[in-house]
Amino acid sequence: MTVNYSAFLYLISAVFFILSLRGLSSPKTAIKGNVFGIAGMIIAVCATLFSPVVSSYSFIIAAIAIGAVIGLIIAKRIAMTALPQLVAAFHSLVGLAAVFVAWASFLSPSTYGIGSSGAIAVSSLIEMALGVAIGALTFSGSVVAFAKLQGLLSGKPLRFKGQSILNIALCIVLIILIAHFTKTQSGISFFIVTLLSFALGFLLILPVGGADMPVVISMLNSYSGWAAAGIGFTLKNSLLVITGALVGSSGAILSYIMCKAMNRSIFNVLFAGLKQNQVDHETQNEEKPAHIGSAEDAAVLLKNARKVIIVPGYGMAVAQSQFGLEEMATLLKKDGIDVKYAIHPVAGRMPGHMNVLLAEAKIPYEDVFELEDINSAFTETDVVYVIGANDVTNPLAKTDPSSPIFGMPVLDVEKAHHVIIVKRSLKGTGYSGIDNPVFYAQNTMMLLGDAKKVTEEINHYLKE
Ligand code: NDP
Repeated sequence: MTVNYSAFLYLISAVFFILSLRGLSSPKTAIKGNVFGIAGMIIAVCATLFSPVVSSYSFIIAAIAIGAVIGLIIAKRIAMTALPQLVAAFHSLVGLAAVFVAWASFLSPSTYGIGSSGAIAVSSLIEMALGVAIGALTFSGSVVAFAKLQGLLSGKPLRFKGQSILNIALCIVLIILIAHFTKTQSGISFFIVTLLSFALGFLLILPVGGADMPVVISMLNSYSGWAAAGIGFTLKNSLLVITGALVGSSGAILSYIMCKAMNRSIFNVLFAGLKQNQVDHETQNEEKPAHIGSAEDAAVLLKNARKVIIVPGYGMAVAQSQFGLEEMATLLKKDGIDVKYAIHPVAGRMPGHMNVLLAEAKIPYEDVFELEDINSAFTETDVVYVIGANDVTNPLAKTDPSSPIFGMPVLDVEKAHHVIIVKRSLKGTGYSGIDNPVFYAQNTMMLLGDAKKVTEEINHYLKE
């Protein structure tokens, strides 16, 4: 296959990737988006395999076989609730790949056609320095995000004195060393740039905690895209540059949208955790009176309602109770009750987490509403059924400036006539580790138990 032919196929697969992103922007078209993505990837891999620059297939085939086996095992075993940390782990690999490619091209520039007799062009040195810095930062930042989401590290901001000064100092040293490297091609500078970028990734993500993790994930997604684009420049692979830029810009746009949803700036998300005067909001779990009800009580309340809004959260994903929820909604609708679902942009543990689960249970898209479209409807709602959601319903986000989630728009569930909250215990706090005053409100009934079991019990009474 000639170089021109490969370039043409790369262009076609780039178009498929753009169509894929467009499809993935809505649950209705997500399957089509995935199909476009797969088609684009098949074309890209084939065009690469048959391109004239490939001289031997043994390593490529071995790598594809090993990767495919690992991918298949992970895809079969992974629980829906563990997807965010899996995404973080994948981002870390993209970052590491960028570091390896940058180092390989530094050590053997002639192999990559970026310099003869050891001298490398300045433009390539800049690409390599940026690629290694973004790649290393993405790698270590993603490892920290993975450890936090997997519960290996506390989800709380991890801080120490002088952290922000150290970060600023590191950034300045990094810029100076990159400039020095591009001028002198010094191996020592390149090595220190790599080490400092690894350290910076750890230091930047450690103080980010609680409700800010989703933004960090999509930001790391964006970094991994830019790192891939950097690899594309070094390898002179136009498709990698295009796809890297697509991932980089879509991740950046998603971070922006999520910051907007949380009423925060990206700067605030990254550096708020560094404020030493933040109050530690770890819940004291002191005893407070709450109204504990039964599944039968809940069924009576729901049956007598005219309007019901269901608010799913992370606990619904853990319990996999979306199917029971669908059955409940169908039973209520049969009685002429208006049932809607309210989705918070950061409910669950990844963007779109709730939408995916509700779609899996074949809940109609037209019943599912985003926060801004449904928040005003709670005042006229008879019963809100909050299932495994906590932070996204916490009114402290509106009233307590010292709360770690202050400023995040939340679902105004407390404004409904009755609130039913399903969770396993009164003590179990949400992701950000803070108590929720709605649990103890006059109009709230707590249903303590596993979300799936409790919902099935309610359905049993609804059928009677
Ligand atoms: P939360 O984490 O705030 O609350 C989940 C609740 O579910 C807990 O209070 C827990 O209480 C309950 N729960 C857990 N398991 C079960 C079960 N089997 N049955 C019943 N209840 C259960 O979730 P939200 O969805 O309200 O908020 C999401 C949080 O996660 C936000 O702070 C968000 O910033 C953060 N986050 C979001 C990401 C995203 O992209 N969407 C990514 C990373 C973090 P109990 O233990 O008592 O049962």
